[in-house]
Formats: sequence, structure tokens, C-alpha cells
Amino acid sequence: MSNSQNRNNIVAHQEIWCGKEVVLIDAVHGEDSKIHGNRENESNMNEEKFDDVRILEQKRDTSQTVKESQDFMYPCTVCPTWLRPIDGKTTVIPSIQEIKSWDFDVLIYNEEVLVPVCEKMLEYYDLYQKFNIDKVVMNDFIVNVWKNHESLPYHNWYHAVGTMNTIFNFLTLAGAEAYATDLEIFVMLIGGLAHDTQHPGQNNEYHIKIGSERAKRFQDISIHENHSINWTIELWERPIDHDHILSGLTADDRSYFLDYFRRVILYTDPSVHGELSKRLIQIINEKVNNGAEAFDRNIKEDRILLGECLLHASDISNPAHGDFETAKDWCQRIATEFREQVFLEKQRGVTVTGYMDGLDTELAVVKMQIGFCNFMALPFFQLVGKVLPRSKVLEENIIRNTKGYEERMKVILFPSSEK
Ligand SMILES: [Zn+2]
Repeated sequence: MSNSQNRNNIVAHQEIWCGKEVVLIDAVHGEDSKIHGNRENESNMNEEKFDDVRILEQKRDTSQTVKESQDFMYPCTVCPTWLRPIDGKTTVIPSIQEIKSWDFDVLIYNEEVLVPVCEKMLEYYDLYQKFNIDKVVMNDFIVNVWKNHESLPYHNWYHAVGTMNTIFNFLTLAGAEAYATDLEIFVMLIGGLAHDTQHPGQNNEYHIKIGSERAKRFQDISIHENHSINWTIELWERPIDHDHILSGLTADDRSYFLDYFRRVILYTDPSVHGELSKRLIQIINEKVNNGAEAFDRNIKEDRILLGECLLHASDISNPAHGDFETAKDWCQRIATEFREQVFLEKQRGVTVTGYMDGLDTELAVVKMQIGFCNFMALPFFQLVGKVLPRSKVLEENIIRNTKGYEERMKVILFPSSEK
């Protein structure tokens, strides 16, 4: 069931997405349209209690030994034409000018190169100096986060750095830095990097269905997000004589850092998409539509909303990439991970996630991505474009990339139409 509502030209309706009610804002068609949400039958839940989570050891190896990229392990056999003709990953460290770009593409780099990429974004804001951070300690932390990402098709080290980079671009290129304190900028960047640490490759709902240890530990609430938060904070709760990236902070700053860190990472849980959209609609209607800026740097609640908004937007920003080839690369990665989850669901006899099922043809993958763009990414980035007008290019990129998928769909359906 969907329920239309119209408030000051913003049309929204409720749907079920990932098993949760979310608000979808009609953007493209201007009318309610059906999406393939996950209408799971809870009664079908399997009673078996398994835990698919492969926990990596929290290694504290400070050396940047060359870790051979496993990234080429996941070419999508369903969409072979989407793979980019690259012989290998580049090992050249990009400049900050290259990093500070909506078109920056983490996927073309060797994994180890992304460590200095992270450091450059922190250096840009002079965070080492401002918060008394030892460079070796920060390097140790970044490498540790890297080594606690599995070699998954999507939820991997590239996604971690890509999310951090999009946050960086929101702060710099879209001007969000004007509404945040230095400490909040520090949290957002570290939060983007660490938000999916030790992600196992299946979503929260899967872990609830199988009753995994991780689901039980977090009582079925934002399971992976809470795990990443806890994993990271544990690094900072070691004995007082152990240096870590928060060692140089005052007690008040450390307390605020941890609070903000928890809040913003929890907003990478897709189930809060609707609630966050509603809050953005509210400030657009109350402030932006009346000529005021969406965020006031002097109001703490505004700065919290900004952090939540930037983390969520950056986490789902792949369809908004400036290069359609890069957007397609991310799409085939998530489709591969979805197929693997469906395989596990069938193997365990639990309810198969509707929108992940049947991605066995290029047409199905294209349709899935068009649906994601039209009903989740574009409506959200249209709101983000209103609260941060200098990010409107992302909305335009999604529209252009969606057209690219629609063109591809036509070619698949009507091969003779290919030019
Ligand atoms: Zn993520």
C-alpha cells in the first residue's frame, strides 16, 4: 500500500523498503510507482541460528606492506560488457586536487594507495595539528581499518575510502564545511572511512532472519552499523598509555567525538532513509522555501543533521558518480553481493529478499538499478541538492546515469536499436 501526500510541491509516499517503512519522494514520474520492496514473511523465518560473520582479527600492523588487491576477483559474469578495460590498478598517489573532485574514482587505484589518499584528506583540514594527532598513529589506524575490510565485491576497502571521499567533497566542493566545526569534520571523515568495518557482505535483514550472533548481540538493531561503531571505539578504549587517534583530544572533545561518531554512522543504516528524508523535507519547507539556509552552524541539532545527511548520502552516492562507467562498476558489484546473499538465503531456507532475487541477467540488473535511482537515490539527492545547492551536480549525474541504464535496457530489449 502506498499513501500519497503533497506538501509544498514535494510529493512523497510510503513504501516498504528493506522490510522497513520509508518515505519515497517522487521525482521522475511525479506519481506513485511501485518498487520491489522486501515484503518478508516473518513467520517463514528459519529457526536455525547461524552466524555468517567472519570476524577478522583486529590487527595492529603499522607497516604498509603491499597487500595484493583482491579486487579483480569479482568481475560480474552477468554484465561482462560493463567491465572497464584496465590492465591493473594504478600505484601513483593522486594529488589533493585530483582527490577533491566529484569525479575522483577510488576503483582505479591499488588498495595501498588509498591509505595516503585518506591522509591527504585529513591533512587538507590540518586535523593532525588541530587535534594533536601523531601521523604514525593515524597511519596505523587507517591501515587497521583497511585490513578489517573483507575482499567483498562491494562492501570493501574501496567503498570505505569512496564514502570518505564523497563526504570530503560535500565538505569542500559543496561547502558543507561552513556548517560544521573542525571536530565534526574530523568525525565525519573518520566515520565515513570506518562505517562498514568488518561488513560480512549480507545486509542487516539477512542476519536477523538467520539469527546470527551479530544480530543477537545488537538485538536486531542497526546490526552492522553498531558492530562497526563498537569495533572502532574499542580501539580507542585501550589503556591510557596507548596512543590512538583521539589521544590528543580534551576530555570534552573526546566525549563529543564519540557521541557524534555513533550518531552519524547509525545513519548509514538504510532503514533510516525515510526518517531522514522526512527531516530534510521539513527543513526545506520551513527554512529553504522561505529563503533561509538549511543549516545554522550555531545550532547543534543542525550540525548533527548535517553529519547524518552527509554520511547517508555519501554511502549511497555511487549512482551519482560523474563517470557512468564508474557508476556501472559499482552497480555490478552490489548486484554480485546481492546474488551471493540470495544464494545463502536459499541455502538456509529463509525468505529470499525480493529486490535482490533474479539478478541473473543484465536486464534484471539494469532494472534493479533504475529502480534504485528513481525511488531512493534521486529523490534523496534532490533533497540534498536543496539543502546544499552546490551538490546539485550529483542529482544531475543520477539523472544522466539513469538515462544511460534506460538506453542500455532498450538495446537489450531491442538489439536492432543499437547505434
Ligand atoms: Zn556503506
